[in-house]
Amino acid sequence: MTQPLFLSSVFQEKIWGGNHLKDFGYTLPSDHIGEYWAISAHPNGVSTIKNGAFAGQTLDVLYQQHRDLFGDSKKEVFPLLTKILDANDWLSVQVHPDDAYGLAHEGELGKTECWYIIAAEPDAEIIYGHQAKDKAELRAMIESGEWDQLLTKVKVKAGDFFYVPSGTMHAIGKGILILETQQSSDTTYRVYDFDRKDDHGQLRELHIDKSVDVLTFGAPANTVPVVTETAHLVTTSYVSNDFFTVEKWDISGPVSFVKTAPYTLCSVLAGQGTLSVDGESYPVKKGDHFILTSDIENWQFEGELTLIASHDGE
Ligand code: ZN
Repeated sequence: MTQPLFLSSVFQEKIWGGNHLKDFGYTLPSDHIGEYWAISAHPNGVSTIKNGAFAGQTLDVLYQQHRDLFGDSKKEVFPLLTKILDANDWLSVQVHPDDAYGLAHEGELGKTECWYIIAAEPDAEIIYGHQAKDKAELRAMIESGEWDQLLTKVKVKAGDFFYVPSGTMHAIGKGILILETQQSSDTTYRVYDFDRKDDHGQLRELHIDKSVDVLTFGAPANTVPVVTETAHLVTTSYVSNDFFTVEKWDISGPVSFVKTAPYTLCSVLAGQGTLSVDGESYPVKKGDHFILTSDIENWQFEGELTLIASHDGE
């Protein structure tokens, strides 16, 4: 019998984390939870299947042993990682390498990511890009700590979306809750960490040389959302490229879907309802994450739900 894969996943404690993820119905292990790796096969925090024939199996092992559920993908590792981030303080100013640089220097893929802003405090900001014209100016501004002149700040609000390709200078600001869809990679080069010390009085490591190697120049090119409406469904398409496709589904009432990708990752951000697959119904609510695998040709939702749906870009 075909079944969606419901997941249970790993919380990551961070110095900038908070406790807002409890609003998703999660029981948090501390008050400094920065990230929930909601759909992950990455070794630093892998999801476990909760239901059906594969209950108790981890997503990385399932991907290796049942590639048929993932469109017989030729990709060696499960390509995507979905996170929810609670920034109770600024994250470090950072950049990620592209695949070629990541594989050559870190032995893993690079990271292109994108952010859907779930909630933001008034006047909340991100860093999205920088003002330096070339590598020499970039290095000089970093070394002299001209952060206000170097870093481009952008105000954000709930519902905004940002495409953050590898090479983009970026930081998530204080008071922002984000759903991030990214390549499955954990390689981050820190440019600046606001001179913060951890619980042991230590500064976190910076990676200036590698950052200067991989940072790109010019303003980041954000994507333009495309909204389409059909009965009981508003679809907002944010990005579709070689890395991933990311959409928002606002559902109100019964809606039938036919598979458009080998497999689809779903994260419920608001509301509740029912998912029906192959004659079985599953209750779904805010905070649930599941994968519609390749054997699921069509499915139906009923209820009032907002989901972020994503799939591999291949
Ligand atoms: Zn990042």
